[in-house]
Amino acid sequence: MEQVRNILGEYYGIEANSVMKLPGEVSSNYLIQSGDQYYIFKDTPSDPSAEALIREENAILVQLALSLPGEFPEPVSRQDGFGKRRYHVLNPEGGHLYRLLSYLEGELLAQTKHTKELFMSFGNLLGRMDRELLKLSLPVIEARRYHWDILHFDLAYEHAQMLDDAGIRKLVDHFHLQFHEKVISALPRLRYSLIHSDANDYNVLVREGRVSGIIDFGDTVHSLLINEVAIALSYVLADKQEPLEWAAALIEGYCRILPLEEKEVEILYYLVAARASISLCHSARGRKENPDNDYLGISEMQMRELLRRWIRINPRAAEDAFRRAANLPACIKPEQEARSDVESEVEKRWNLLSKAFSLSYQEPIQMEAAVFQYMYDKNGATYLDLRNNIPHVGHCHPRVVKAGQRAMAKLNTNTRYLYEEILIYSEKLLSYFPPDLNKVFYVNSGSAASDLALRLARTHSGRQKMLVMEHAYHGNTAAVIDVSHYKFAGKGGKGTPPDTLVAPLPGTLNGLREHLNRFGEQPLAGFICEPIVSAGGQIVIEPEYMKELASFARKNGGLVISDEVQLGFGRLGKYFWAFEYSGMEPDIVILGKPIANGHPMAAVVCTAAIAESFHNGMEFFSSFGGNPVSCAIATAVLEVIEEEDLAGNAEETGNYLVRLLTELREEGGALGRHIGKIRGMGLSLGVEIVNDSTGSEPATKLAGKWVNALRQAHILVGTDGPHDNVLKIKPPLCFDRSDADIFISNLRMIAEGIT
Ligand code: PMP
Repeated sequence: MEQVRNILGEYYGIEANSVMKLPGEVSSNYLIQSGDQYYIFKDTPSDPSAEALIREENAILVQLALSLPGEFPEPVSRQDGFGKRRYHVLNPEGGHLYRLLSYLEGELLAQTKHTKELFMSFGNLLGRMDRELLKLSLPVIEARRYHWDILHFDLAYEHAQMLDDAGIRKLVDHFHLQFHEKVISALPRLRYSLIHSDANDYNVLVREGRVSGIIDFGDTVHSLLINEVAIALSYVLADKQEPLEWAAALIEGYCRILPLEEKEVEILYYLVAARASISLCHSARGRKENPDNDYLGISEMQMRELLRRWIRINPRAAEDAFRRAANLPACIKPEQEARSDVESEVEKRWNLLSKAFSLSYQEPIQMEAAVFQYMYDKNGATYLDLRNNIPHVGHCHPRVVKAGQRAMAKLNTNTRYLYEEILIYSEKLLSYFPPDLNKVFYVNSGSAASDLALRLARTHSGRQKMLVMEHAYHGNTAAVIDVSHYKFAGKGGKGTPPDTLVAPLPGTLNGLREHLNRFGEQPLAGFICEPIVSAGGQIVIEPEYMKELASFARKNGGLVISDEVQLGFGRLGKYFWAFEYSGMEPDIVILGKPIANGHPMAAVVCTAAIAESFHNGMEFFSSFGGNPVSCAIATAVLEVIEEEDLAGNAEETGNYLVRLLTELREEGGALGRHIGKIRGMGLSLGVEIVNDSTGSEPATKLAGKWVNALRQAHILVGTDGPHDNVLKIKPPLCFDRSDADIFISNLRMIAEGIT
């Protein structure tokens, strides 16, 4: 303190009545009172490059003091300048640089009540400041490469692996990927300027309900002009229920002074998230390096919350709100126009495609993008996804996307060459199986995998006949339709083929035995089944029942095939594979859908003996099966399942959902009285909708009505089962408790409104 007083007296001719230390990250700041004047004294660690930066920072403050007096700290010039204006003092022993700045009155934005008017005035002052900064050119700042600059997200992202919360890390990964997708390519067409670049709510002052000043120019960089707005927004939206409305107020205030360009507004959503991500990367590093310094943790909670909110906002909805605020043309069409767009797209589709393809929902959705458990449509809505089990680890999981991009840019070839991706993946995949299941084939769809499994069983056994489950579905090829009761016995089907025996869906064990006895002795190639019959409406085959079926197959010389296309990879929670629950000990396993998170890949795993029988001179080749890109993607999928403990989440969230549904059923009421059996496990659930929960009469129409009403409420579920009355709940495995709550509360509101 004494030294501060001495410097003030010697260089600035100021006698201090009081000197008070203020909190600060890089520099030590002191509040000085001298008579009725207040000042800020700054003591900054110094080296020659810091001095050059401070010179330019002073130049900015001097310029701002001239054009916008009273709104920014003004450097106090030294008294010993001998006619030359000098502002800072270097400690003769080195290491420190001192400055004196005018003090601005006001409360911190972080500690005042926020209003839209306040945000408007915040934007306004940012705009007035930036209008001045645009005119300046300062070479040292322009040459600065700063790790907080959004342009250099990659510098901060080097620390992303230090984020120890996997749920946050994947959000940061996602926004890093989107930054590369959306921002980098736009850079050459954007405006650059000197910007303050740290208008956080502790650097912004408020007087009488208006933003009255901005302090701390230590982060000034030459960057995208729009980053000024992005940074300000990243600090003030985390606690807002309607973040886009608040953002719009700030943007409107800014644009009244300094209009933003369309190209800038288009990427603003991604820049806000990038800044929050950068902040989180730095806090993670700070905490690892210095666990006791909680100063670094101040904005961490805010930034986490912001990213969790941001991901639920459809980027197009954000762009539309920002465009309107910036007085630019909207990018979402009015409702009527959007509807007629859908109609013409549907019409075009049926001109081009067979109507054998189906579309979901009475009002089909024009999907534009998706991430994790959220899907974004063209009109700005965000859907919570409970029905898509293919994007197993979450839609467009950044780790999976990046693995695919990297591999695709390197080599895409086929299994006739040697490449390590197929070995890395095969080793990893087979480590999840019992030791006897140790050979793998790769194809591109669940259907192709089922088809190959039939060939393997038939070649190995030398027989043709298959035992299949009632209501089962295994794929779309001609041979596989013949083992899919759901298809051959359903609409357009030709009835049971001669080489197919159908086993009944679970009933009593005696009933099953009688049924099987009626077949007598049969020369079987195999028995194919899903341990939970999905198309049947998530019918679980209990171990006892399964044992009976498998032993019938084996007694008749057949192999046992488990179709894990829908159930495998941890969806059932406790059981990584469904066959582990059912105890069926398969000889062949079929894998598909989740294996590569939506990238077309599938596999068949079998014993060495079966693989050996198949090696009979006829080559097996699949042009795409097992290519290095698919293998790299599938490897990333397994890594994410492990890192994010998605099987654990499936178990925990699945149990939670079953508990909520069971409570509802017990409670009765408009919803509960229509809930029949709740089947399945983990995040593979089926909820029967019945006319009355004491009976089991299917309420097909009601189920359909609810599914469509849920779609209108932006929640995606489907129906399954022979009567199409079973709600199918098979979300991406990142689906969590809060999502379950949202689903249940919406379902309840719909049931109470409709029935
Ligand atoms: N088996 C099961 C159990 C399935 O659910 C499906 C697809 N719904 C398939 C096989 C066929 O997979 P794909 O659509 O990839 O050909």
